[in-house]
Order: sequence, then C-alpha cells, then structure tokens
Amino acid sequence: MVIKQICAPDRQRPNPERTCIGCGRRRPKSVLIRLALGEDGQPIVDGRKGAAGRGAYLCGKGCLAAAVKRKVFQRAFRGKMKQLDRKNLEAALEGS
Ligand SMILES: [Zn+2]
Repeated sequence: MVIKQICAPDRQRPNPERTCIGCGRRRPKSVLIRLALGEDGQPIVDGRKGAAGRGAYLCGKGCLAAAVKRKVFQRAFRGKMKQLDRKNLEAALEGS
C-alpha cells in the first residue's frame, strides 16, 4: 500500500508520528486511529482525539486483530485496561 505523503513546507508543523500497536509501523498521527480508555476501562475509538489519558494508535481493523493477538493492549494502556470488547471496537473501527 502506498502512503500518500505530502512534503510539508518548513513553516508547517511536521506531522507527528505514532506507532501502530498492531503492526508496529510508525505512521503520521493523522492517518492513524486513536484509541483511548473509556470510563469503564475499555479501549474505545477516540474519534475527537481529545480524550484524556493515554492513547494507543491503530492503522485500522486489521491491526486491531494483530494487536489482540500480540496482547499489546495491556502494555499500551499501562495495565489500566479492564476489559477488551473486541466486537465493539471492531464495529467502531469499521465506521471510522
Ligand atoms: Zn498498523
């Protein structure tokens, strides 16, 4: 897959990169989906990118499966995650 990358002029803020917890690739934050912990300790898609606390980043649904398989959620959320509702998360990723 080709990632469209625009060369930002100097005066523009460089696009910060984040690591996808599923595939481990570093990608511009703007193309990743941010996950945050909801009040019940479940990872949720942070659509507004404003939820407080630690976030984790995913490329998409495919990387969610990889992240679950690699059991990286607990580490990504520093053990604060209570449970993982994968179906719910998959549905949310589908719509984003
Ligand atoms: Zn990924």
